[in-house]
Amino acid sequence: MTIIEEASGRCLCGGVTFVAQGVQPKHHACHCDMCRRWSGSPFFGIEVSSVEFSGAENIVRYTSSEWAERGSCGVCGSGLFYFLKPADSYSISAGVFDDQSGFQLDNEIFIDHKPPGYAFAGNLPAMTEAEVFAKYAPSE
Ligand SMILES: [Zn+2]
Ligand SMILES: [Zn+2]
Repeated sequence: MTIIEEASGRCLCGGVTFVAQGVQPKHHACHCDMCRRWSGSPFFGIEVSSVEFSGAENIVRYTSSEWAERGSCGVCGSGLFYFLKPADSYSISAGVFDDQSGFQLDNEIFIDHKPPGYAFAGNLPAMTEAEVFAKYAPSE
């Protein structure tokens, strides 16, 4: 799947709109406790190389960990993005893009935190919390 050059989106009320570049159509589902509380369900994060927001004054940024912020619309509450501070990179919620027809669920993370009551089809590659931290934690 090739990278989507540019894609637009908005929150539910339209108070925040965005245009993102370098949009990765393959995405993960995160089952971690924080993602489920924040988004109300597993989080589908779409990685982008850059993004420009309009109505940024409506964005509420919540510091959810030492290394990340989660952004929501302060008017309608739509969960907009996960921002990884050390990498200066945004993962934008799949559901706020205008055209989601090119997106493809590709893997699952924090699979050991998934509640038993749902499961995605397809037997996708999945990583536990320990595997995720082993892969992405800085070596020091
Ligand atoms: Zn809104
Ligand atoms: Zn998560």
